[in-house]
Amino acid sequence: MKPYEGYMLDLDGTVYRGKEPIPEAIAFIHQLKEAGLPYLFITNNSSATPEEVSLKLQAFNVPAEPAQIWTTALAAAAYVKAGPAPHTAYIIGETGLLQAMEEAGVEYTEENPAYVVMGIDRSITYEKLAKAALAVRNGAAFISTNSDKALPTERGFLPGNGALTSVVQTATGQDPVFIGKPEQVIIEQALYILGTPLEKTVLIGDNYDTDILAGIRTGMDTIHVQTGITSLEEIEQKPVLPSYSIQSMADWTLMKNSGEKSSKK
Ligand SMILES: [Mg+2]
Repeated sequence: MKPYEGYMLDLDGTVYRGKEPIPEAIAFIHQLKEAGLPYLFITNNSSATPEEVSLKLQAFNVPAEPAQIWTTALAAAAYVKAGPAPHTAYIIGETGLLQAMEEAGVEYTEENPAYVVMGIDRSITYEKLAKAALAVRNGAAFISTNSDKALPTERGFLPGNGALTSVVQTATGQDPVFIGKPEQVIIEQALYILGTPLEKTVLIGDNYDTDILAGIRTGMDTIHVQTGITSLEEIEQKPVLPSYSIQSMADWTLMKNSGEKSSKK
């Protein structure tokens, strides 16, 4: 265990499971806050606004301000804004993505957009997909918030944004730039926001194929928590291991920069 200076945390499977909080993770986040260590929640979900995510977390007694939430909606908006002008986009997505784009100064248009941005849209229609495909064929840069194929819900696994994106991908023969985990884009932005050095920042998540891989690709340390998608048995089969794999955050002792233990279990 190292005295990390900045912490990135995944949400579902790490801080809560659907509607159930994970108490060990929540206790750990309180320790981070009390120690004054910066932390940021990173989610591939683009449908909710940071305000909505922070309210959900606060309902679980997690100390989380909207500024501590980094969604793929915010990340995609920042990516487009940092790209070549004009910052005009045809956008498929829900409130989180539409609001993030508007706040970043990306103008929504269906006429000759410079970008097509796709995020989860549970009101997807053939017409929306048609407009996206036509714009991509017309030369628009193709961006997708995340490649998650399926979404865990109470009903079972439903089509995720990766599945929706694949329709436009297949129809145009163009691959999108994906922004969310396991890509580095969102993690590099998060490092910039945290303001802590790569080697002193750690990423905590339950899913090897998104969270842990994103950290490994970015070159940072990772903590796999066995409270969600990937089991310890599955981790042991992977060619590149996370820095740590623990049952829950109760197994993690927070250390100060001096290396002194700041809490005892
Ligand atoms: Mg997760």
